[in-house]
Amino acid sequence: MENNKRTEIGELGEFGLIDHLNKSVKIKNSSTFKGIGDDAAVIEAGNHVKVVTTDLLLEGVHFDLSYAPLQHVGFKAVAVNVSDVAAMNAIPKQITVSIALSNRFSVEAVDALYAGINAAAEHYGVDVIGGDTTASRSGLVISITAIGEAKKEELSYRYGAKVNDIICATGDLGGALVGLQILEREKQVFMANPDMKPDLDKYTYVTGRQLKPDARMDIIHELRELGVVPTSMIDISDGLASELFHICKASNLGVTIYEDKLPIDKQTFDTAVELNMDPITCVLNGGEDYELLFTIDQKDFKKLEKHADIHFIGHTTKPEDGKNLVTKSGTVVELKAQGWKHF
Ligand code: ADP
Ligand code: MG
Repeated sequence: MENNKRTEIGELGEFGLIDHLNKSVKIKNSSTFKGIGDDAAVIEAGNHVKVVTTDLLLEGVHFDLSYAPLQHVGFKAVAVNVSDVAAMNAIPKQITVSIALSNRFSVEAVDALYAGINAAAEHYGVDVIGGDTTASRSGLVISITAIGEAKKEELSYRYGAKVNDIICATGDLGGALVGLQILEREKQVFMANPDMKPDLDKYTYVTGRQLKPDARMDIIHELRELGVVPTSMIDISDGLASELFHICKASNLGVTIYEDKLPIDKQTFDTAVELNMDPITCVLNGGEDYELLFTIDQKDFKKLEKHADIHFIGHTTKPEDGKNLVTKSGTVVELKAQGWKHF
């Protein structure tokens, strides 16, 4: 029988599509410890493991060169991959860099991109070990693969959390989304009137969060020094709520988080209000902060309690208790994962 069924990708969404593809994949090698479904794949390598992760960045989808300097794009392309290595509690060691370029780009432009890539490679201590270069019909495409190392027992997967673990988030959240809104607004102003010089001085923190995120390898090294292995971990690339959903799904748990514990920077808060956006919605659903979300066993709380940049935002619960946000006024509302909709 002829099958004329056509399913729109939007019906599945990004995560549904990945689940769908995962069903068609068969793992054949015993050295493949973990395939699709975490921040990075895990491969056995003697007495330790390697983690491998890839991210693809497209001009016009992930970055806009009318306000993102090429150097920052290069740095960010590395940082987002390092962030996925960090999310496994592993240490990044090597990257490969593949680029596709249209004839709009000069050697000097590629040099600027690589100045950012090399700066990030220095910053994170990774070696650029290869890649691929090809022509593109539509702008710049960058795909980076990062390889990291850890001992097997050091790894933190999305699936390891237990009931009553403490949920931790690093840094502050929502800034990258608010920064993006400002950059887009100023771009529109500039396009309407090219004589207007964008006034971005007031917004340097949030625009920096969008243009030049820093993967939290500092936290990974500190956790090691303190002897804490998170029971589960993920990086916050699609928004806090969406990442909490991933941990809940993988670990088969519910969560309760508290609005008054959610970390937000003052400039993020003030700018969100100025843009008529709800700051808490920005924290919950803003993407691209590249902070870490992890759970710890209660016995480890004392070791992290005084850390200035780790926030204890809630705890895990039984799956039947659901996913809840306790508001400042004490009302319990169901947490919704909006995340980024690519399709
Ligand atoms: P992250 O946001 O941490 O980069 P993603 O949501 O992109 O993670 O990916 C989740 C998982 O799905 C990862 O294990 C990733 O390797 C895998 N994945 C994503 N796209 C594909 C694909 N086209 N084919 C196979 N695996 C994929
Ligand atoms: Mg990730």
